[in-house]
Amino acid sequence: MNEQISHAGYRLVVRTATAVVLALALATTATAKPKVTILATGGTIAGAQASQAEYGYQAGAFKVEDLINAVPQMKELADINGEQIVNIGSQDMNDEVWLKLGKRVNEVLQSTDAVVITHGTDTMEETSYFLNLVVKSDKPVVLVGSMRPATGISADGPMNLYNAVAVAADPNAKGRGVLVAINDTVHAARNVVKVNTSNVEAFRSPNRGPAAIVNTGKITWLEVPGGRRGAKSEFSIDGVTALPRVDIIYAHANMSADLIDAAVANGARGIVLAGVGDGNATTAAIDKLTATAKKGVVVVRSTRVPSGLTYRNNEVNDDKLGFVASLELNPAKSRVLLQQALRVTKDPQAIQRMFAEY
Ligand code: ASP
Repeated sequence: MNEQISHAGYRLVVRTATAVVLALALATTATAKPKVTILATGGTIAGAQASQAEYGYQAGAFKVEDLINAVPQMKELADINGEQIVNIGSQDMNDEVWLKLGKRVNEVLQSTDAVVITHGTDTMEETSYFLNLVVKSDKPVVLVGSMRPATGISADGPMNLYNAVAVAADPNAKGRGVLVAINDTVHAARNVVKVNTSNVEAFRSPNRGPAAIVNTGKITWLEVPGGRRGAKSEFSIDGVTALPRVDIIYAHANMSADLIDAAVANGARGIVLAGVGDGNATTAAIDKLTATAKKGVVVVRSTRVPSGLTYRNNEVNDDKLGFVASLELNPAKSRVLLQQALRVTKDPQAIQRMFAEY
């Protein structure tokens, strides 16, 4: 009898212990959602129209809390908190905001699992690549924007934001560098460019294709993006308060050399040629760029053509003229890398190595 009681007691203890363990496991699962911080910078995703039928709108009208409250479903994917960095149209993005944003991303990633950045689409390809070079972490950083303002008919921002949080919360996003999630597609910062002024399908990765497809938070990863980045990057913005001036000069038929002189006279330490074809330009412009490179201003040849590479020593003899070839990087991304490179060196060979690696 005593033995029976003690058996029953033992079973009770075992059952209670099992229930406690299960409850604890469930509680842990419930709190195991990744922490995602949303850093808001403005853009059309936070934009408002005076009326739905109106064409124009004001970018950066809504605050980060409004964006988060508009998509409550995100809270099932992650523990979300938000912070406003600036509230601007990204056409006004500048070095000062980049440095502030880059430093904040580095800080925030010490206590959070991933960062989502809401951003205008105009300069998203540049900001994402800048962060790709200077964020010292392999944790996910995902930029998101929209083509239609938050008040527009069939606004694309809420779904884009939901998908961006899903990507940021996915452990498989780790180590892929900074990403851009927009229109059900994920792109690597190094590859992505804006290709349409108004359509919701406004972003492509011309040479390599997208990094993933995302459908209502379900992600199919397609490729591991190339390029050195994150923890392996040699560029740090700790303590940096300004970046060197680099100008882009657009090549065209009948191009003169005047704008090259103007850039140098205004303090450019680097020039990126948005060249015709394989990074080419008129004889007058190439001659001026050669003289400019001899004076110690670094000249990078890129191309205004939307896809393909700018090859070294192909049509232009870079070795002889002292130029750097941008290889896979378009003019806007070449400018971002050259700003970082110039903080370290002005040797064209060393900078060519960086263009091959990053
Ligand atoms: N001008 C806007 C911006 O870049 C356009 C957009 O977000 O789509 O902020």
